[in-house]
Amino acid sequence: MTALAAPPLGGGRGAAWPGRPPPRRPGPAAWDGPLDRLPGVGTGVAARAAALGLRTVGDLLQHLPFRYERFDDTRSLARDVPVGSETTLRVRLESISVRPTRRRRLRIVRAKVTDESGPLWASWFNQEHLARMLKPGDELLLRGTLRAGSPPELTVKSHEILGRGASEGLHTTGLVPVYAGTEALPARRIREMVDAARPLAAAAPEALPAWLRHRLSLPAIADALIAVHFPRSRGEARRGRRRLVIEELLVLQLGLLALRRREGERRRGIRLVPTGALSGAVRQALPFELTPEQVRVAGRIGRDLRDDRPMRRLLQGEVGSGKTVVAALAICHAVEAGAQAAVLAPTETLAEQHVATLSDLLRPAGVEPVLITGRVPRAERERRQVALATGTASLAVGTQALLSGGIEFSRLGLVVVDEQHRFGVDQRQALSARVEGTGGVAHLLYMTATPIPRTLALTAYGDLAVSTIRRRPPGRVPVETRWVREEDREEAYESLRSELRAGRQAYVICPLVEEGEDAEARAATSEVERLAAGPLAGFSVGLAHGAQRLDDKREAMRRFGEGDTDALVATTVVEVGIDVPNATVILIEDAHRFGLAQLHQLRGRVGRGESPGLCLLLGDPAGEDGARRLEALTQTSDGFRLAELDLEIRGEGSILGVRQAGPTDLRFARLARDRRELAEARYAARRVMADDPTLSREEHRLLRAAVMERFVDVPRLLDG
Ligand code: ADP
Ligand code: MG
Repeated sequence: MTALAAPPLGGGRGAAWPGRPPPRRPGPAAWDGPLDRLPGVGTGVAARAAALGLRTVGDLLQHLPFRYERFDDTRSLARDVPVGSETTLRVRLESISVRPTRRRRLRIVRAKVTDESGPLWASWFNQEHLARMLKPGDELLLRGTLRAGSPPELTVKSHEILGRGASEGLHTTGLVPVYAGTEALPARRIREMVDAARPLAAAAPEALPAWLRHRLSLPAIADALIAVHFPRSRGEARRGRRRLVIEELLVLQLGLLALRRREGERRRGIRLVPTGALSGAVRQALPFELTPEQVRVAGRIGRDLRDDRPMRRLLQGEVGSGKTVVAALAICHAVEAGAQAAVLAPTETLAEQHVATLSDLLRPAGVEPVLITGRVPRAERERRQVALATGTASLAVGTQALLSGGIEFSRLGLVVVDEQHRFGVDQRQALSARVEGTGGVAHLLYMTATPIPRTLALTAYGDLAVSTIRRRPPGRVPVETRWVREEDREEAYESLRSELRAGRQAYVICPLVEEGEDAEARAATSEVERLAAGPLAGFSVGLAHGAQRLDDKREAMRRFGEGDTDALVATTVVEVGIDVPNATVILIEDAHRFGLAQLHQLRGRVGRGESPGLCLLLGDPAGEDGARRLEALTQTSDGFRLAELDLEIRGEGSILGVRQAGPTDLRFARLARDRRELAEARYAARRVMADDPTLSREEHRLLRAAVMERFVDVPRLLDG
């Protein structure tokens, strides 16, 4: 094999730093060491970094820039630079002051500086602190655009103070990395920390076996990290990132292959041969025609159920796309074949809603679902348990209570799991135990209303077959979405009120509060008071939040559902499981704090009746990503398109919702972009597994550890 030698990497700009001691190779302890050990990083900064999830040197060095700014390397003298062009100048500060402007929110900091060609002005917008921080005599590198004048004036885009420890040119020359930061820890500060951590890149653990690196021309881990943070060219940065992406996807693929291998060794499933008796009656009673997609998906599921390999299928389709009907047909299939079915929902509300919907849909088949949740009274629950254990009840619907030890089925053939990504690790384990019932392994149908792009589905759910319903049933009204700035809040209320005056109803969604449900509840309660006293005076306003007693919440929902209240102030409890066709407006506070998928789901609460819906997103995002998300929502209502956009904006980790954390969170890979790397990683994973299926060879030790860490919820995944 003639592997291309990996291109030379590393030793970028900072290597020329005069007086830097010759590098000693740092040990692995340095990689796991805390950030406040870095020169120039105190405990305060370290705490702010921890808020971003960066605790160790390793975390920091794996916090990759999301883009680079290209600041031309050649520094010039002001007099040689054509007016209107961007440049980096090395100057000395003479004096500095803040100048107010006629615009209220605008302050300009103006400094008199000199370079060797003479004096010039430098100005910054809205950075008043600089006037305090910079002192006459400071040497600066200024990056900006030169404007005519005498002397000429430089509008500064980025600056750095020389002689304060960081590598010269870090912020102003060459390819300058831009990091995701926070207000408390801006990209600039992160850049300085990464610079300080640079010598410790050599401590990064090398998980890829040498043959693989040669085969795919991948640089060593330390070189890759240096290349990504301090690239001399875009190509170098790309090659570094590619290595990190492939490693990450490889670990994921190895885990998925191991899962599939285990699955193949599992016991047989149950062949469910349908008679058509029940599903025929149900189909006939439907008040509508199934869409071609529903027919197709129902057909696929039917074939899966007839097979003696247990079905593992993911059905994705947006809220209202008609998944429940498809699930109902699958349930009929199972029941008429003599098996029982169970539907598992993440919340009580959703479970109750499923019982209502399914009992309507399945009435013609004579199938009556029994509800099993933690809140069903004990005696009643025991009665239901007996019915399930003896087989007199053929369909159970419930929350995780269904998975608990007390519940037994006489012949469980099909489990439908709604919104499975909302289930925790323990519950997923309990589920696998549950489907391995006595009569064989039950078939599993997962449903999700969070659309997942195909590439992501392949990666995240590599062990599942995927079916998609893309189009919603015909006759749906559109929802108009507006992004409203704080100063236009009053206008938003006016739009909302005019719907209420027309006899329609509205949701007001309170901001996510990080301190938890209780704080959220308090915020929601005071919002009700504020609205009732002001913007919504004269209308009746209800309240629903997660910390409420179930009865109170149910009552609030019922009153809203029946039109007794005009507006419902709620936390995200309404995200799933409320269907009020007369509600036409939804106003979401601090919308930028929600994930795109979540906003899309919230928006799905309106536009369910005959009148068009209106979604008002209030938000003044500080970051670019927040703005792009809100922008995206105003532009499209196609959940798949939004999922693709989310993939581009935020990466995969956050797509499945704010609370999602699992083996599919990706740190480096961006599936929207890294398709080729995905293919390479799949290839590499197959090679590695064919050779060493339990990853027990020494050269695979770190890979094995990485797979185990990523798939913590699958115990003994790699045992022989
Ligand atoms: P999902 O479970 O995907 O959120 P549902 O199955 O609850 O969606 O369907 C949403 C609504 O659309 C329900 O009121 C359902 O009766 C209706 N519906 C489902 N399929 C069709 C169809 N083919 N034509 C018209 N309406 C449909
Ligand atoms: Mg549904």
